Parts: sequence; structure tokens; C-alpha cells
Amino acid sequence: MEIRRQNDIIAFRAPGELPVAFHARNLEVADISEELWNTLGGVEDSELQSVLNEWNSEINPAVTTHKLAREIRSLTINVTQICNLKCTYCAAGGDGTYGAAQTKISVEKTLPQLKFFLDKLPDSGTFRIGFIGGEPLLYPEGIRAIANYVKLMTAGRNLRAQFAIVTNGTLLSDANVELLKEINCNVSVSIDGAAEYNDISRPMKNGQGSTALVIEGLKKLFAVKSELGSITLHGVFTAQNMNLVKAYEFYRQFPADTYEFTYSVSDLNQEASDSFTREMREVAAIAYSQGGEEALRKINFFNRVFSALDSQRRTENFCGAGKSLLVVDARNNLFSCPWDVGNASEKVGQGSEVSEAALDKYAQPLIEQNNCQSCWARFLCGGGCMFVHKEATGSKNQKNGQFCERQRTLMETAILYFKKCRQTDIQKDSDYGKH
Ligand code: SF4
Ligand code: SF4
Repeated sequence: MEIRRQNDIIAFRAPGELPVAFHARNLEVADISEELWNTLGGVEDSELQSVLNEWNSEINPAVTTHKLAREIRSLTINVTQICNLKCTYCAAGGDGTYGAAQTKISVEKTLPQLKFFLDKLPDSGTFRIGFIGGEPLLYPEGIRAIANYVKLMTAGRNLRAQFAIVTNGTLLSDANVELLKEINCNVSVSIDGAAEYNDISRPMKNGQGSTALVIEGLKKLFAVKSELGSITLHGVFTAQNMNLVKAYEFYRQFPADTYEFTYSVSDLNQEASDSFTREMREVAAIAYSQGGEEALRKINFFNRVFSALDSQRRTENFCGAGKSLLVVDARNNLFSCPWDVGNASEKVGQGSEVSEAALDKYAQPLIEQNNCQSCWARFLCGGGCMFVHKEATGSKNQKNGQFCERQRTLMETAILYFKKCRQTDIQKDSDYGKH
């Protein structure tokens, strides 16, 4: 892929294809002519240069920016800090405990904490609860009690309660599936592919493979799919397993709503990073050739980029950590990010006490805090994952170059597919494409 850039105009050209340009601030995508591509490459042409300058400085009134004020609308709750698996790449202390096992969260302490956050919200929008662990389905009674309380407290208010869970999928008993139905849960099941891969990366504590159990659970889950929010299959890929294409082939036997491919937070080697990008591009090519835009958008990454481009909505924050999102650990400590749990220096509160001073360091838009102003992908990326940055550089606000490289390469891919899918509706074609 060749890339050319002048200020906020970036042009990409895949081998044998026509060049496509992207306006980084206005989130516009357009075909450009050979001549304009050459001008971007340094060939002097004052007329075309002024076309580029004009486009670059244009302010598109249709573009909006998704701002995040400090208003906690999402709580991720560790209902347990224990797990029945021992995944090779577990970032929660290696065993789901974050270094301090806790079998069950105290529901008695959690309900007043929920009330505290619910009382602060106006009667509008959505309040999201995400159940994680360890393995959250080791404590289904806790999930039910918390969800029932939130439903009760939002009833009669114009505030929508929404529930999600991230589970390893080994405990999807009839009773647990019933619970997920009851709360119309968005369910994300972690599985890294077929047994030959997943049994190695996600074994049970006793060393046996977990895949057969997960597949049994998935069958039950898909049997009641219409009564759940959504179902996502989620894989984490490490240097030991970069088989995203194989995972995708495995995933497609299930009628999931979305697929999520995550690069392991702790792998910092270039080869693994490059393999991830290559495999993601191959997954995209297979998805697009077999099912066009619909299949491509089942992959969360591509769906997010397509949505941003369609709505021309800029994002300034990769996630809501410390702004709209807080994490409650199994001892009711508060953190800004799930991966901060167990790190006392990152604690931002306890119970119903939140340290505003601790949250102040998350107040700025991430693209500013992380100095992303010169990155062409800033309004699609939003400054990146602070935890991934910190794993590589020791600071949440100092970027992990490998992350940025992966992110931008995959954004390019997404933009090129977006152009293919929107061939006919891009107004800019007529303005800039025919020069
Ligand atoms: S790709 Fe890197 S530099 Fe660009 S916005 Fe994301 S984190 Fe910032
Ligand atoms: S910083 Fe990264 S890991 Fe933490 S909440 Fe945000 S996206 Fe998730």
C-alpha cells in the first residue's frame, strides 16, 4: 500500500487499484484522479495544489464530534475475581484474580454504590452494566441481584438499563442461559478458535481443554438468541496463536451478531504485530468477498470505522475510561479501566466515594492527552487504549508505536472497503475526483 499526505488529506493506493483519499478532520472519503495523486506525490501543478488546499481547509458543517463529559454511564463490575480457566495470556493476574482472589462481590455493598451512580444521572439515555471477572458466571446470584436492582431503580425513569457480560463460555448451564435471557444480556464469549488453538490458549485449571464445553454452551445460547441482546465471539491473539483466519472460519459456523479480534495487550514483538495486521486484512478480504458490507461489518473493528464514516462523527476518546466508564472490583474499589484492578496506585475511589482529583487526569480528550494531533487517524481512533500504551511505554499517555501502526494500517484497509461499498454516494467524487 502506498500512502501520500498533505496536511489532513491522506491518499492510499493498493497495488493495481485507483487511489482513494481521506479527509482526516471531515471524515470524507473520495476517489481521486491520477493527476491529483501525482500532485500529492510532489508533482507541481498550481491548479491542483489549490484544489488540495481548498479541500484541506474546508470545514464541513455535517461533521459532529462525540464529546465525553464526566458522567458515569457505564460500570463494569467484577462480580468474582476467580476463574475456572487458566488462559496463557490472562492479564488479570494470570488466573483471573488480579493478584487478590475474591470469590464473590458483596451485593450488600454494591447496591448502594449503584444507587450513588444512578442518582447522579438525568432521566435520559442509557446506563450500562458490564459483568466481568474472573469468570462472572461463577456468581450468577450476584449478577441477578445487581441486574434486578438496576432494573428496579431505572423503572419509571426515562433511563434505559442495558446489561452485558464477558464470559469464558464454559458455564452456560440452562439456569445461567435463563439468567442471561431474563436480563436481555449482550453476551461476549471468549474463544480463540477451534479446539486445536483454543484448548492450548484457554485451558481449564486442571490443564484439560475447554473448547468442547464452550461449544456445548454456545449451542444453548444460540438456541435462545432472539431473547438475548446480542452475541459476540471474541478471540485474543498472541504470538503463540495468530490464526485469525482459522478463528474466523470457526466462528462462522455460529450465527453470532459480531466477531471481535483482539491483539494481546502484552505481546510487543513486531513479527506478531505484523502477523495480526496481515491476518485481519485476510479476514476482511474473505468476509467482503463472501458477504459484502454486511459480512465485513460483523467484525467490530470494521463496523466502528464504517459507522464513524457514515455518520461523519469524530471520536476524541478511544474509550470512556475515567470519563463515562468506571470499574468496580470485587471489593468495591473503583478504577477507571478493567486492567487497573489490583493496582492500588490507579484506584479512583471506593464504594460511593469517588476521588474527583483522581478522575481529573482523565478529563481531557484522549487525542489531546496522548498528543495525537498530527495523526491522520486521530478522529477514528481516539487516542488508543491507555492500557495497551502503558504496557509498552509505562505511561497511559505515551503511545505504543506498534499499536498505532496496527491501528493505522487497519484503518486504511477499512477506508478502502468503505469506498468500495459507497462507490455511488460520495459527493466528493464529483468535486475532486475528476480533475
Ligand atoms: S493511531 Fe496512535 S497516534 Fe493515532 S490517534 Fe491512535 S493512538 Fe493516537
Ligand atoms: S484503556 Fe483500554 S483496556 Fe482500559 S477501558 Fe479503555 S479500551 Fe479498555
